[in-house]
Formats: sequence, C-alpha cells, structure tokens
Amino acid sequence: MDQQQLTQLSARLFPDPLPTPQQLEARFAPRSLPEGARVTRFAPSPTGHMHLGNLFSSFISERTAHTTGGVFYVRIEDTDQKREVADGVSAILEDLANFGFTVDEGVVSAQQEKGDYGPYYQRQRKEIYHVFAKLLLEQGLAYPCFCTAQELEDLRARQEAEKRTPGYYGPYAKWRDADFDSVLARLDAGDPYVLRLRSPGDESRKVVFEDLIKGKIEMPENIQDVVLLKADGIPTYHFAHVVDDHLMRTTHVVRGDEWIASAPIHLQLFKLLGFKPPKYAHIAPLMKEDNGGKRKLSKRKDPEAAVSYYFEQGYPARSVKEYLLTLANSNFEEWRKANPAAPQDAFPFNVKKMSASGALVDLVKFNDVSKNVIAGFSADEITDAVIDWAKTYRPAYYEQLIRDRAFTRGIFAIGRGGAKPRKDLANFAQCEDYTAYFFAAPTAYEWPENVAPADAAAVLRAYQAAFDPAWDSDAWFGALKALCEPLGYCPDVKAYKKDPAGFKGHVGDVSTVVRVALTGRRNTPDLHAIIQLLGPAECEKRVAGAIAALQG
Ligand code: GLU
Repeated sequence: MDQQQLTQLSARLFPDPLPTPQQLEARFAPRSLPEGARVTRFAPSPTGHMHLGNLFSSFISERTAHTTGGVFYVRIEDTDQKREVADGVSAILEDLANFGFTVDEGVVSAQQEKGDYGPYYQRQRKEIYHVFAKLLLEQGLAYPCFCTAQELEDLRARQEAEKRTPGYYGPYAKWRDADFDSVLARLDAGDPYVLRLRSPGDESRKVVFEDLIKGKIEMPENIQDVVLLKADGIPTYHFAHVVDDHLMRTTHVVRGDEWIASAPIHLQLFKLLGFKPPKYAHIAPLMKEDNGGKRKLSKRKDPEAAVSYYFEQGYPARSVKEYLLTLANSNFEEWRKANPAAPQDAFPFNVKKMSASGALVDLVKFNDVSKNVIAGFSADEITDAVIDWAKTYRPAYYEQLIRDRAFTRGIFAIGRGGAKPRKDLANFAQCEDYTAYFFAAPTAYEWPENVAPADAAAVLRAYQAAFDPAWDSDAWFGALKALCEPLGYCPDVKAYKKDPAGFKGHVGDVSTVVRVALTGRRNTPDLHAIIQLLGPAECEKRVAGAIAALQG
C-alpha cells in the first residue's frame, strides 16, 4: 500500500478523533525523581487472591522501588475478560495491604486510582493504545488481518506437516501484503479483524539484552506478525506492556521468566515506536522439593502456594516477608544475624543479587524463620496479633482471649524479651494448644514414667503443704529442693548422677511432677511464671485435682 492508501485505511480503522503521540508524551511527562530512583509496577490480571509467586514478584518490585526512593504502582491488566473474577481487584489489593506493601500510585483500592499516569485499568486505556496502533499502521508497520480461527488452525497444521516454524509470519502471513482493495472489501463486508504488527524482524539477526537477574540474553529477532489489537480493539499483553510501561515511565519491569520468550517481540515494539525499553528482571518460578527432585510450586497441589494459607494458619505477614527476603537475596540471612532487631525495610535489597534459578520453598525452614520473627514480637504485639487472627479464624478461641486481656498478655509475656527469648511459636494456629492449660485445668496428665503414682502424690502433698504464694522464683526453687530429701529425692542433679541408686530421683523429677500437676504437660515455659499468672487459688485447686487423679 502506498502512503495515501495507508492514510485512508487509518482514517477508516480509527474514525474517532485521537490525541497525537506527542500529546500523550506531554501528558505523561517523564517523572522527576532523584538519580537512581526506580519506577516499578505490579501488573496483575484481576483473577482474585494472590499466590506466593505473585506475592514474591510484587515484593521484588516493591523493594526495588522503595530501596531506591522510587515509585511502586499497581496497574490492572484486565484485557482478558474471560479470566476475570468478581472482586478480583479488591482481593489483590487486600493481599497487598495485609502484607503492608505501600502502593504509591495506580489502583490503590478497588474504588480509587491515584497518580498522573492513569487510567491504571488497561481496558480504560483503549484510546491510548489506538494512538500508537494508528501510528504503526500509517508507517506500514501494522495491518488488519481477517483470518478466521479455522484459517489459522489450517495454517498451523500445514506448517507442522512441512516442519516449519509455526505462526503467522513472512510468507505465511496472508494479509501482510494484501492490496488496498481487498482490505476495503472485507471492511465493507463488516468482517472482523485483528490488527497485526508487520514485523521487520530477521531470524538470522540477534536481539541482545542484559537481564538484571539472568544476565546477558541473546535470542533471534522476532519475525512473527503478532496481534497488537484484538477484534474488539483491546490490546494484547505485548502491545499493552510496551505502551503502558513507556507512558507510565516504568524503569524496571520485574516479571516471571515465562515472559523471556516474548522479550524479542517487546524490544522490537519499543524500537519501532521509538521508546526506550525498560530494564528487565525476569524471576524464576518458586520451586518445591518433591520425591528427591524439584518441581514448580503448584497452585493445584501445594496448599502453601496460596497466600490465604499463611493467613489461615496465622503466620504474620512479617514472617512471610522475612522468608521471601531469604529466598530473594542470599546475603539477607547474614544481614539479619548482624542486625537482629532492624526493620526489614532497612535491608539493602538488590534485584541483581537474585538467583537466576528458582528458589526452593521449604516449609521447615520457613517455620524456623517465623519462630524467630515471632520471638521478636513484644508481649503486646503478639497479644494483639493473636487476638486479631483468632477473631477471623477461631471465634471460640477469640472469646477466651479477650475475656481478660491482661491475663492473655501475661501468657504471651512468659519467656519473651531478654537475650534468649523462647522460639516455640511458628504461627498463631499453634497458640490455641500452646495456651490451653492457662484457660482450663488439665484433664489429662503426662506423668513422668520414672515416678510412681504414689510418689508423685506424695510430692504434691508436700508441695501443697509448703507452698507460699509470696515466693519469688529463687525462693520457689529453693523450696522444691527442700522438699527433696524427706521424700527420697536428691536436691542436686550432679550429686544424684554420682549415686543414682541412693535416690528415687532428683529435684528435676520433683519439679516435673509439679509442672504436670499444674499444666498436664512435661514441657512448658517457665513454671514459676505460670504459677504467678494462674494465682494461688487456681494452683491449689489444680494440685488437689492432680492428687485425686493419681489416687483414682
Ligand atoms: N498481567 C501479567 C501477568 O499477570 C503481568 C506480567 C508483567 O508483569 O508484565 O502475567
């Protein structure tokens, strides 16, 4: 087609007045940000709650922006209505908010957009895409294609039989060089069409780019006449990515490495439109160990792939982020050791330090990380967090927790703070069992096997008789020692080890009996602190109950 025909065709395909590319460039002017500040985005399709992989990549984007004083924005990629779910956007934003991600710009809530580069819903940007589609068309770099689905399928079958690269390109691109009149005839007939790129690519030439994570990538140029606008005028991912990330002035595109294969298309489009391409950081998918091998973490098979799993189990967002940081940058753990109390945001995250291969999600390791995180919570922090969690996920437990907040706080305060805080909670779902004996006297007892029931009862009777609520921790333990000898137990563990035959046991056994009587369990946090919290009346009742159980 000659220039005049292209101009006519453009007027026919884009009859409505559109802004010029220059006007758009002016409207979405380059951002004035400090040197080195990065602009990143999270660009989900509105398909509902996030998976760990989405969370990981949005976190990498967020950190990349916020460790450089840049901007992190959210753009909703709603070009594929078939995949959309009701409230899909709210669900995503809720997940982001639950993880405490600050969204500076874009779709900040389902009702609200913020920033000068919008609209941030792709379906509302149709006109903007048309400006650049028209530009390409007028330069002979795009054309309408009227092929039906059947024709495309036949083409694929033919290419397969001929063992040729599949796709719509070069000699196989039926409408690439169609004459003006046949295009007009189809338009007059009202036939649907898509707008395709007229790719100037040459497979024997290479496109080279430096991926921030994967390093230098070299691939053949794109030769496919990919679809830019679908039959309804909505862009494909390829075209929308290029137009949006240019106009929204994204500097760093962080996305899954399944997009690497399409990078030659994107770089070609950036070039043809005269846009500077962003830097790319392609993230490998999260992996999981399975039967001695590794596979991708699967939404279908692995409950821990869903972000909701972490909320349901009561893992604090901070634990999940702490773990994702260990997966993202191998120097994070060392930094954490050196800065145990520093906020996560203080870590100098660097996208370039990410591993090119997929990080392994390991729940055992994750639980360790989470135990450390929860151990760092203050008593008030954990009390509020557990109450908040239980309100949604364990309503009966919630009622128990809020009956007397000071008491609940007292439970969580035991063994907290100090140089060596207890690290026994990985999530809040464990709290119900962990705190059970504070709320109800034990009904079952883990009596030590090496103490006969009659001896245990004798220990408890002596303890009961001696007990003084005024004892501090040292006085209390002194009193336990004093009980030992009359009952045939050794007050000193070392002395006992020298002469085990001379005693029924040692002071440790005596304290275990008291512990089991009060809590039902052999392992608990500091027993004296538990006694203080339960109070003398409750303790007395429990010891009496345990004696009765032993005699029963
Ligand atoms: N909407 C795309 C996806 O969900 C975004 C990819 C990108 O970040 O560019 O896969």
